[in-house]
Amino acid sequence: MSKSHTMNVSRRVVLAGAGAGAGLMGMSGATLASVSLLPTPDRSETYDVVVIGSGIAGCAAALQAADAGAKVVLLEKMQSVWMGGNSLLAGGGFAMPLDATDAARRVFVAEYEAYCLGRGNSTIFKLMAENIDDDLAWLQMHGVAFEAPTPWPPNQIRMAIASPGFFAGMPSVFRHLRSLLPELGVELKFDTKAQQLVMNDAGAVVGVRAVGRAGVVDYLGKSVVIAAGGYGGNTALLEAYSDPNAGAMMVRGIKHATGDGLLMAQQAGAGLKGMGGLMALHIAAVDGVETAAGQPASVVPHAISINREGKRFVDESKGYVNHGKAVLTQPGQSTSLVFDQTLRDSVAESVMATFARLGLTVHQADTLEALAALIGVPVAPFVQTVTEFNAAVADGAAPGAVPPKATLANRIETPPFYAFSPLVPGITLTFGGIMINDRAQVLEADGRVIAGLYAAGEGAGAAFFHDYIGGGSLTNCLVMGRIAGRQAAS
Ligand SMILES: Cc1cc2nc3c(=O)[nH]c(=O)nc-3n(C[C@H](O)[C@H](O)[C@H](O)COP(=O)(O)OP(=O)(O)OC[C@H]3O[C@@H](n4cnc5c(N)ncnc54)[C@H](O)[C@@H]3O)c2cc1C
Repeated sequence: MSKSHTMNVSRRVVLAGAGAGAGLMGMSGATLASVSLLPTPDRSETYDVVVIGSGIAGCAAALQAADAGAKVVLLEKMQSVWMGGNSLLAGGGFAMPLDATDAARRVFVAEYEAYCLGRGNSTIFKLMAENIDDDLAWLQMHGVAFEAPTPWPPNQIRMAIASPGFFAGMPSVFRHLRSLLPELGVELKFDTKAQQLVMNDAGAVVGVRAVGRAGVVDYLGKSVVIAAGGYGGNTALLEAYSDPNAGAMMVRGIKHATGDGLLMAQQAGAGLKGMGGLMALHIAAVDGVETAAGQPASVVPHAISINREGKRFVDESKGYVNHGKAVLTQPGQSTSLVFDQTLRDSVAESVMATFARLGLTVHQADTLEALAALIGVPVAPFVQTVTEFNAAVADGAAPGAVPPKATLANRIETPPFYAFSPLVPGITLTFGGIMINDRAQVLEADGRVIAGLYAAGEGAGAAFFHDYIGGGSLTNCLVMGRIAGRQAAS
């Protein structure tokens, strides 16, 4: 299909950008009120597939659609240096089954179902398990480099990390995609914000109205893929759906993850799923400045977490996401993660090296009293907390501690003593999103397919609930993005 500059599609335009929970616009035609608010397009361009968002989901969709011979345009609201969205800032771990057997795939699915308390999207987990090996090989065939996958204990999965390693690989991935996609015919339009979906009289989505360098343009196509990421940067959505305090949290990723895709889809009649409460957020306790790499996730289960009153408040062994959510409820919404030399040697050394590389302080003192002074907690309650906790530790657990610790309980007794402090809650990703089926087709709340509209990535499918195993989101985005691209081009 060739590009044209005519306005030959009979269409309705669906206004997006309304606030959280806004009602649907009438499906039989745009209302007068909405028409009066619509910008007039300067022109239209016609493609086969229009993709919104240049993260890993959008790039996978665009690349797959181009591979299938479709003429593709990819719209990105930010400038080209921000190509990649949250995917650009990610650690770069892609979760995979332990091997290519059905048994390993079943274990992978079961692991994710358990982490998500049985409320995740099992259809997506199965697609992830079935496709990720092929999809990573496909990216490698296109020149994207990964480190060899390695087991990822305690989970029964492997992790493939974008080369050359954690928090270093994704910038390379997007540098490569930035040159590869145009070579394959994908038109990249940066600084071009999708504002509204364009629908025809039959209720099918036939394009996107966008505002950007080229003015107001309708990008028309036989299908549209929404891959505009999550809503961690949208305070109104977070406060409306998750928690009145959620807007006060740090955003670990991009601030412009504002849920535009969800809002546009909702205005076109799409259902949303998994938006409610803190279960819809991935939260980690992080350094207040280096919110991305400044997070001691792997140390949390082994250490003790101390609030501003010098007290423990959570079973740290339940993992860093459970811990991050608990910090949200503490005085001043901050904590100090305390450990000793024994734990430094066994689990904390590499995180301390990361903090040192980032120029972040790890507090160190020869006595608990001195550490309390460094991290700004009252000395007597802090020393009492540690003393009572140590006394409660037996056989790797501390059932009698307040609160109890189920496993990985270690006495804090060998000086020097250390603390990552202060740590504050930061949103890593949002779990709620547009309802889709196993073909990435967007669904209305009652399950009806919206013709011509696909969605993939963090903002689609509500894959996860409460928690996820690291690497799951990039795998979800890649797998579902590629499925969306294949379907959109078919
Ligand atoms: C610090 C950090 C580390 C992480 N590490 C990992 C990890 O190692 N493994 C893992 O699995 N997950 C990780 N995650 C989560 C993961 O990075 C994201 O969930 C994933 O990258 C989302 O990809 P996406 O393609 O859906 O969206 P994004 O990558 O966020 O891309 C969406 C794009 O859409 C654009 N966009 C939005 N609205 C519009 C609009 N109206 N018009 C045009 N463009 C628009 C945005 O600007 C953005 O570029 C991490 C997250 C963070 C914050």
